[in-house]
Amino acid sequence: MDLDSAGDISLLLGSEDVPPVLEVNAAGNSPFLLTCDHYGRTIPRILGDLGLPEGELTRHIAWDPGIAGVAQPLSERLDAHLIAQRYSRLVIDCNRPPDTLSSIPRISEATVIPGNEALARDAVEARRQAIFDPYHRRIREVIDRRLHDGIPTVLVSLHSFTPVYAGIARPWHIGTLYHRDTRLPPLLLKLLRAEADLVVGDNEPYAVSDETDYTIPVHGEARGLMNSGIEIRQDLIADQAGQKQWADRLARILDEIKTILRTQQMLPA
Ligand SMILES: [Zn+2]
Repeated sequence: MDLDSAGDISLLLGSEDVPPVLEVNAAGNSPFLLTCDHYGRTIPRILGDLGLPEGELTRHIAWDPGIAGVAQPLSERLDAHLIAQRYSRLVIDCNRPPDTLSSIPRISEATVIPGNEALARDAVEARRQAIFDPYHRRIREVIDRRLHDGIPTVLVSLHSFTPVYAGIARPWHIGTLYHRDTRLPPLLLKLLRAEADLVVGDNEPYAVSDETDYTIPVHGEARGLMNSGIEIRQDLIADQAGQKQWADRLARILDEIKTILRTQQMLPA
C-alpha cells in the first residue's frame, strides 16, 4: 500500500471506487429516516486488503453482516428514506467521532489491522474527507431539508451485532440503543417485548454514548429528533429468509409505533 497516495484525498477514491453514500427511497413518505453506518465492507482499491486475509474482511469487524439485507426491504415496506454507507468500518468507522482511537482501528476485537498502523495525518484526513464527511453531510442535509419543509422525522439507526464477542455469547435477539431520547426507545422496547419469541436487550449489547457513537448523538439528539438504534443479532439475519422476516417484523412494529405517536400527538396525524 502506498501511504503517500492514500493520503491524497483526490486519490483515495478513484474512478473504479463506488461513492460512499447509498440512498434508497429518498422520496419516501415515512416519518422514519433510516441510517446504516456499517452497511458495506468495500475498501478503496488503493488500500488493498488492509493487510488482512479474506476471512477477516467478511466478518463483523469489517461491517454489520446481514443488516444491508434488512435495511433495504425495511425501507421499501415503510416507504422510508434509507441513507447507508458502503465502506468498511475498518477503513473509517462512520459511527465513531473522527478524533477517537476507534475511528480508524489499529486493533478490532483481537485482530491487528496492518493497513491502519502508523497512518500519516494526511492519510487519516483523506479517509475522513472521502468517506466519513460525505455520509454525515448527506444525513445532515436530509434532516435540514425535512425540518425546513416541516416533515416529521424519527431517526432509526440500523446495526447488527455478533452473537459471540471476545468469547462471550450474547443472549439477545435484538436490542435498542439509546441515550437521551425518552420517547421512542420505551415504545420500541414495549412492542419488541410483546413479541413472545424475542429476547430483547435494553441498551444491550451496547449503550449509546457521545464517546463511542456519532450518528445518534449528532443527528438524533443534537437535532432534537426522536431516535433509537436497533441492533439485530447477526446469526438471525445471515440469509435472505431471515433478513426478510426481520424486515417484515420491524416494518410492522414501526408502523404500529407511528400510529401510537400520532395518537399521542407526538407526530402529526
Ligand atoms: Zn453497526
